[in-house]
Amino acid sequence: MLQLTPKQISERSALRINPCKTCQPVGAMYAALGVHRCMPHSHGSQGCASYHRSFLTRHFKEPAIASSSAFTEGNAVFGGGSNIRAAVKNIFASYDPDIIAVHTTCLSETIGDDLKTYISEMTIPEGKLVVHTNTPSYVGSHIQGYANMMNGFIQYLAQSSGQANGKTAVFPGFVNPGDMRELKRMLNLLKTSHTLFPDTSGVMDAPMTGYYSMYPKGGTTIEEIKSLGDCAQVIALGELTSEEPAKMLERLCGVHYETLPLPIGIENTDRFIMAASQITMEDVPYELEEERGQLLDVMLDSHFYHYGKKVAIFGDPDTVLGLVSLTLEMGMIPKYILTGTPGDAFLRKTRALLERYEQDDCTVKAGGDLFELHQWIKNERVELLLGTSYGKQIAKAEDIPFVRVGFPILDRYVHSYFPIVGYRGALRIVEKISEALMDRQDRDAADEDVELVM
Ligand code: SF4
Repeated sequence: MLQLTPKQISERSALRINPCKTCQPVGAMYAALGVHRCMPHSHGSQGCASYHRSFLTRHFKEPAIASSSAFTEGNAVFGGGSNIRAAVKNIFASYDPDIIAVHTTCLSETIGDDLKTYISEMTIPEGKLVVHTNTPSYVGSHIQGYANMMNGFIQYLAQSSGQANGKTAVFPGFVNPGDMRELKRMLNLLKTSHTLFPDTSGVMDAPMTGYYSMYPKGGTTIEEIKSLGDCAQVIALGELTSEEPAKMLERLCGVHYETLPLPIGIENTDRFIMAASQITMEDVPYELEEERGQLLDVMLDSHFYHYGKKVAIFGDPDTVLGLVSLTLEMGMIPKYILTGTPGDAFLRKTRALLERYEQDDCTVKAGGDLFELHQWIKNERVELLLGTSYGKQIAKAEDIPFVRVGFPILDRYVHSYFPIVGYRGALRIVEKISEALMDRQDRDAADEDVELVM
């Protein structure tokens, strides 16, 4: 592989090689799947919708339902108004969702289709709903798409009735259904009455029942989204994913919000638990204290393997920030930190975290790609790679232990059922990192034995 100097690497600005992100509609589709009886709808060509669906299916190993406006060449010239009108009519007639969540694609954004007007002028069956958001894929990433779709639901549906419902709205960030289940478990232990929005548990991890259900049991209900405006407060998890929707709800309905990092690692989970317990004024239950203590115990027991090890971490911004926090707590050195999602906030937050742990020799980048990460590793090696499936070629080429975490993980099963958030989630990451490093140590020791015998 071609090796570039650090100067050459930093000079490349207009081209991405092996991107560390995917396009906005993937995130929008995932957010819409977290709403009960919702049909995500891709306003663009069929190829886009097929790509987004298959991408989600490959990660979750579950069917990702979605429909498409099925643009042809003519629509690129004359617009997709007639397509969306026909699509909405056909979707309600054939698939009977309660709500259709439309997101745009590169093509419909480029021609400037005015979905707000199309939707306001179309005939929608009694009791059914259509919402939309704009997801131009040539800016941002699937993370913005996810936040934009949440904004779309809030703008169309959330209302303030003046009658408080006493609930806390929790925006979970771009995480797996397993994480959403864990967040709800912790909130229930803390006796926090809550609405998780969106909630893909029970949809993208639905059980095998022997028959196909287009709309499984899970998902935030339309009624719950409508009453977000009556919630007492919002806990927005994942500062770079959930803050925008929280701001939108505050602006429209005056609901106060608190933004917290994704609860990955001890400190971030502590903050989430303290925020929830301060709302209810309940003591933290022993069950959670015990889990925290177990995690600490395991981290201490295994610290010989982690301490001082250099790790490269890449993926979605909030997930990466959480993983950086956890690896610093484990005594590791997050040498290279990269997200494909652009944004200065990621740089600021990561640097502030590194400063607190007096780590001044780490490279941080937002809007980067995996070719660049590979070059950094070639110039100075790390002992562990932590990130999505797209890192496997780097791990193979450089013979570095690799732990898959984040989105997407396309070449493994079961991962989306297990959390990485909370103390239990951290316990699992510590286990995976320990195994990867110990396997390498065992292999190196076996190689040495062979050399001695020879
Ligand atoms: S054309 Fe745009 S919206 Fe469609 S798959 Fe490609 S990047 Fe995504």
